Amino acid sequence: MAKRILVVEDEPAIAETITYALSTEGFEPVWKATGREGLAALAAGGADLVILDVMLPDLGGFEVCREIRRSSSVPVIFLTARGAEVDRVVGLELGADDYVPKPFSPRELTARVKAVLRRSEEASPPKTKSVRKAARSAPFEVDAERCAIAYLGRTLALSRYEFKILRVLVERPGWVYSREKLMDMVWSDPGASMERTVDAHIKSIRAKLRAVRAEPDPIVTHRGLGYSLREDWG
Ligand code: CA
Repeated sequence: MAKRILVVEDEPAIAETITYALSTEGFEPVWKATGREGLAALAAGGADLVILDVMLPDLGGFEVCREIRRSSSVPVIFLTARGAEVDRVVGLELGADDYVPKPFSPRELTARVKAVLRRSEEASPPKTKSVRKAARSAPFEVDAERCAIAYLGRTLALSRYEFKILRVLVERPGWVYSREKLMDMVWSDPGASMERTVDAHIKSIRAKLRAVRAEPDPIVTHRGLGYSLREDWG
């Protein structure tokens, strides 16, 4: 079945170029001109990937991405103004999978779409029901097939990268992972990101864990080294 690609872009000429290029490559593009229409289309029909313009007339692309990440880990590619480093970093921190600076060639964009789809399929973990229980009272349970992690019996609403980071930590309690190592393991293109992106994701994961139980913090920060999952449960 053709992959459904949601294109949220307010400039008709750009949108037309994108949708044409996607159809040529066998994708099923769906074009929406505003953030709200995009969110509505995603809620109604889903998508295999979202191409999201940063500058939109109503909700900005970042706002739309934040909204998407509340409930979905669908891959997101941002379209950004050329050289907008801030956009790139903010986008990745929000859980975007890639960004393409304008102007871009249709060929370049479809190549990125294919790469991100391939990556997200490869990232679908092997068919194991859950990782071995790390400790007697291990409070985490990983459902690899659903890309979900439960903490104290409650499933966490994690973005794709948050899931990947927490999974790495949960699989080896006590092991210290440097930010660099985490980026290598979690981002397929580490050069495109920054260490603070890991920090931002860890911060967001911690907030979600805290919402389940205030203390203790299951993630330990090792100053100058990185992060680990705590071992000494109860
Ligand atoms: Ca725009």
